[in-house]
Parts: sequence; C-alpha cells; structure tokens
Amino acid sequence: MVYDRKVLTRPFLTALGTPVQWVFDRTEASGLREGQYLALSQSAAQDEIDEPVAALRERYLPELERLLPLTRGAEVRDFFVTRERTATFAPTPGVGRLRPGARTKASGLYLAGAWVATGWPATMESAVRSGVGAADAVLGALGRPRPRRLFEFEEAA
Ligand SMILES: Cc1cc2nc3c(=O)[nH]c(=O)nc-3n(C[C@H](O)[C@H](O)[C@H](O)COP(=O)(O)OP(=O)(O)OC[C@H]3O[C@@H](n4cnc5c(N)ncnc54)[C@H](O)[C@@H]3O)c2cc1C
Repeated sequence: MVYDRKVLTRPFLTALGTPVQWVFDRTEASGLREGQYLALSQSAAQDEIDEPVAALRERYLPELERLLPLTRGAEVRDFFVTRERTATFAPTPGVGRLRPGARTKASGLYLAGAWVATGWPATMESAVRSGVGAADAVLGALGRPRPRRLFEFEEAA
C-alpha cells in the first residue's frame, strides 16, 4: 500500500488475532519521496495466493484501519500485490545437485545467495552462510587471513 502520509511510526509491526501478519515500512528502500509505502507480508498464503487484488484489498485495508489509527484519514494512493510462490523453500529430491558453490570458473567471480550450496535450505540462514562462504573464498584467493568474528558461528555449530 502507498499512503499519502505516514501512518506507521515504527519500521515494522507484527499483529496477532488478525489476518495481518507483518507490515514493513518500505518507504526509504523504495525511494518514495512523499507518503508512506507499507508492505504487508503474508506467509503460508496458499489460500490467498490466487485471490484477486480487489479481494485482498477488501480484506486488508479495513484491518490496517483497525491496527493503525493514522490510516483512517489517509488516502491509499496505490495498492498492489506481488505473489512469491517460491518464498518458502520446498526442495525436491536431487535439487542439491543444482546448487553451485561459492567458487566459479571465472576468475574473481564468487557466488553468494541463499540458493548456493551451503548445506542449509535456501533460507535467511543459508543467505548469511553463503555470504560468509563467498568472503572466505575471496580471502583464501587473496591469501588473506579469515577474520575470526566472521566465522564465529561455525565454531558455535
Ligand atoms: C515473502 C517471503 C517470505 C520469506 N520468509 C522467510 C522466513 O520466514 N524465513 C526465512 O529464513 N526465509 C524466508 N524467505 C526467504 C529469504 O527471504 C531468502 O532466502 C533470502 O532473503 C535470500 O537472501 P539472498 O541474499 O540470497 O537474496 P535476496 O535477499 O533476494 O537479495 C538479493 C538482492 O539483490 C538485489 N538485486 C537483484 N538483482 C540485482 C541487480 N541486477 N543489481 C543489483 N541488485 C540486484 C535485490 O534487489 C536484492 O536486494 C522469505 C522470502 C519471501 C519472498
């Protein structure tokens, strides 16, 4: 939702007892100069993923009015839906073979991303581990020492 004014005074909120799960303030990240851009993120949304935008709008705008009093007098300038069908990692047998490591055949090119072969499902943890793995590969190639703090989680595991 893009509102014509600031309606959420914190960076994000989570709610219980309502269909709303998470709301994030995306204004700065989106580069919006006027008003406020809020992203409402719904997980396990199998029942909603194919619902028309109008139905989602009808469900969520009144809920936001209930949760965020400042929305009540605000104009909704835009309302759109993105559907991330692969947000939740759901591997099939053999998928591990498709995940590359951090090192590539191209000189100076290293890969990071949740989907890289980290040994973890492609989640946020995997994303972090992949970044550390790529940094490790780069430092190794440059002959530089591994900063200990970067790899502390490996010792904890
Ligand atoms: C709706 C949703 C809910 C999720 N919920 C969870 C959860 O509860 N728990 C969990 O562990 N994981 C969750 N995930 C998965 C998790 O968000 C991802 O696994 C993780 O963020 C991937 O991290 P990443 O660094 O590989 O990629 P991203 O976080 O996707 O980062 C890639 C970045 O690259 C930028 N980019 C892309 N192309 C270019 C370009 N050409 N030039 C410059 N920049 C570019 C993108 O803008 C983006 O910022 C969720 C994902 C979604 C979509």
